[in-house]
Amino acid sequence: MSKLVMGYWDCPVCGTKEIRGDVANCPACGRARGDVQFYMKGYTEGETREEDERSDVEYLDEEQAKYVSKNPDWYCSFCNSLNSDNAKFCNNCGSSREDSESNYFQMLQKKKEREAAEAAAQPQVSAPQAKRRSPMTVFLIILLAIVAFFVWMNGNKTSGDLTVTGLQWIRNINIEENKMFSESGWTLPEGAEQTDARNEIHHYDSVLDHYESVEVQRSRQVVDHYETYYTYSDNGNGTFTEVPHERPVYTTEYYTETVQQPIYVQVPRYQTKYYYNIWRWTPSRDVTASGEDHNTSWPEVELGENEREGKRTEAYAFTVEHNKSKEAPATYRLAESDWMNINVNDNLYITSKRTGAQPFISDEKGNKIADLVQIK
Ligand SMILES: [Zn+2]
Ligand SMILES: [Zn+2]
Repeated sequence: MSKLVMGYWDCPVCGTKEIRGDVANCPACGRARGDVQFYMKGYTEGETREEDERSDVEYLDEEQAKYVSKNPDWYCSFCNSLNSDNAKFCNNCGSSREDSESNYFQMLQKKKEREAAEAAAQPQVSAPQAKRRSPMTVFLIILLAIVAFFVWMNGNKTSGDLTVTGLQWIRNINIEENKMFSESGWTLPEGAEQTDARNEIHHYDSVLDHYESVEVQRSRQVVDHYETYYTYSDNGNGTFTEVPHERPVYTTEYYTETVQQPIYVQVPRYQTKYYYNIWRWTPSRDVTASGEDHNTSWPEVELGENEREGKRTEAYAFTVEHNKSKEAPATYRLAESDWMNINVNDNLYITSKRTGAQPFISDEKGNKIADLVQIK
């Protein structure tokens, strides 16, 4: 059963607060209540209360409730005061109810519309905009910083006063030997001498064997019971009505389900595996020639039985020392044709980049003459 709850109102004339809803005239200034909105202490419209959260709700006892009309008060058009639905004439000025049209709720509605219209008529005052740097400006500043950094990184550093103190060259021929290997595989390579062939497991296949019944635990949400919560609605006559609502409370229910689970077996698949001997050319030894002048030559090679010449490699380098600074001597590699033009006691310039990229021989202004690789 819905219960009645005491409402309160504030006097708009003298400002007295929390006047009980069953009081028709302000106890401080005596004015009949008119343009007021009823409220419950400690409750905001739309709020919900749980079963055990209602200790501050002021219920009217049954005897009081008997005499309260559930209908809203009517609003006297002549003196703007509120009168009980039971009253045929205005308590304040005596006008007949028939000459008035609005009740409490219509009065509130009109008041709200009036306030909205007034708010709309107010000139719009917008907050002053803070001066901020535009995103485009910030972007340009960052871009400039990046460009400046790369220009600096690409800057070259030319070292002069370098004197060539040594030349080095090395030429190497790798000798390969034809050797026999014993191997096995799923195919027989060309030129191999087969020694054996056996049926062996190549791989396993998963094959469905049968199904097994398996019990699986599952859960679902079911309604356990319903619980009551409350809201309060303004009756428009100094009282409120407590409105009960219900909501379901869920619980987790567990059950088992039988499912068919597939069972697989691993079936071996056989193939012919070949065992064979095969001859392969394999790097075996190096023959090297080197020198510290321009008289380069390839080393003399004497091939043994089952031998042949393999890969040839060559390298040309020079060492420079700083005439004035105490920096350690450095050694660089370069192409043979460039190296042929360099002689001991030559003075030259080497330009290196700040990024650590490959250095090069340059003139004193940093113009490239030949590429280099520094040997650490
Ligand atoms: Zn008052
Ligand atoms: Zn009146």
